Amino acid sequence: QKPIVAVVGRPNVGKSTLFNKVAGSRISIVEDTPGVTRDRIFADCEWLGHKFTMIDTGGIEPFSKDIILSQMRRQAQIAIDMADVILLLVDGREGMTAADLEVANMIRKTSTPIILVVNKIETKELDRNSFEFYNLGLGDPISISAEQGLGIGDLLDKVVESF
Ligand code: GDP
Ligand code: MG
Repeated sequence: QKPIVAVVGRPNVGKSTLFNKVAGSRISIVEDTPGVTRDRIFADCEWLGHKFTMIDTGGIEPFSKDIILSQMRRQAQIAIDMADVILLLVDGREGMTAADLEVANMIRKTSTPIILVVNKIETKELDRNSFEFYNLGLGDPISISAEQGLGIGDLLDKVVESF
């Protein structure tokens, strides 16, 4: 059984972009029940010989009319229940938000390793924005740009070290 890496975070931080970057073309969308828009999005990934399964929790129930908070709660619960490593993704351009703190509070009590990932960091100047995320109390933030593929290797090193 391969380790499971779950990506959580509020909407629009770049979860799907990171997922697609890491997964490449190996994405499988599994429909649980016909007629129900509940798609779980998994991808088989590999880094330095370590195989793992990545889950884009934000891809679950994309058309739900639930309020954002209850969606985030469900996504956090899936990560806590299934994952061997949780990636909490935040947006380094927008800075820390109340919703980031909500997600952090949902997952911080689990014994599952959590890696704090600051996305949308494309320049040295923007990298200064990562410091405020120490306030989430989840350790050292790792800066990446999912879109431009920056910092992904360092992130995946940290992921496979956590298995
Ligand atoms: P999700 O809702 O968390 O899955 O976020 P998405 O992956 O759909 O991305 C939300 C928006 O952020 C999109 O417009 C992306 O193009 C943008 N985005 C994602 N990653 C990056 C990044 O590394 N840098 C920048 N500048 N924008 C990004
Ligand atoms: Mg998404």
